[in-house]
Amino acid sequence: MILVTGATGEFGRKAIDFLLNNGVNPSEISALVRNENKAVDLKEKGIEIRIGNYNDYNALIKEFNGVDKLLFISGSEIETREIQHKNIVTAAKEADVRHLVYTSFIRNTEVENSAIDFLQNTHLKTENWIKESGIPYTILQNALYLDLLPMFVGDVIQNEVIVQPAKKGKSSAVLRSELAEVAANVLTTEGHKNKVYPLTNPVTNTYEDVAKYISEVTGKKVTYQSPTPDEFKTTLKESGVPDEYIGIFAAFSVAQANGELELQNNSLENLLGRKPTTYKELISQIYK
Ligand code: NAP
Repeated sequence: MILVTGATGEFGRKAIDFLLNNGVNPSEISALVRNENKAVDLKEKGIEIRIGNYNDYNALIKEFNGVDKLLFISGSEIETREIQHKNIVTAAKEADVRHLVYTSFIRNTEVENSAIDFLQNTHLKTENWIKESGIPYTILQNALYLDLLPMFVGDVIQNEVIVQPAKKGKSSAVLRSELAEVAANVLTTEGHKNKVYPLTNPVTNTYEDVAKYISEVTGKKVTYQSPTPDEFKTTLKESGVPDEYIGIFAAFSVAQANGELELQNNSLENLLGRKPTTYKELISQIYK
């Protein structure tokens, strides 16, 4: 039995589809969800639905019962994520899960003072809890989702400018679906126990490159400006962006400026069995 947590989220749904594509029988997949109403389509595919919130340790122990492989998809509630992740790892140990696959985030250890330590700290702690638990594990250190590009560049066609405090920093971003495909491949092939895989795009790009690719596709002259993080935050505030998002947007671009989002590693291509989609290819699809 393979159980996928966060199964009503975008990554979880794609991972389940790739498990099915890889030939896993629906009766061998279960989905942990906190809201059954969002899981109707999963149920229709023959997936067993188990109800549990990451906050509810006892429910997790019960629902992890009989699970051989657990795809633990990191939580999305930043404030409470740490205790939730501890709950999941402890419950998996208690339920005698045989292989835990965790979606972490890339960590460029050469960069000191992470700009995104609010998420890096939880991932690092979770990875350590998993290793200390003694459960055979695979850590998938996912790059930034390439799918988030339109959110970072904003209304670029209208504005003809990309504004991000990322300087000339590069990103090794990867499509979420390709990361989910790798998760399914890891769950359905051998040789991945006690491995940590940084999953990054071998083709890295700056926002200057992104502006150039969008210009080529649209025929408009799109430019890139990199203000200071404070100037950037002020602009977002004046545009009415809520405070909680301003900090997160700025932090990711500062991380990119510092080189935190760029990492060279061939694990992704090996586990995917092909070269991943590049910024240029995605841009030619979105902005054509
Ligand atoms: P998503 O669509 O927001 O899905 C998150 C999933 O986690 C949802 O199914 C959500 O349930 C579930 N969840 C959150 N808190 C929970 C709780 N307390 N109890 C039970 N389930 C809970 O995110 P995604 O795109 O699939 O990404 C998966 C994870 O990757 C995110 O949660 C986040 O940790 C991380 N992430 C990575 C990147 C990246 O660039 N690498 C970007 C964004 C997020 P509901 O459906 O009920 O809300």
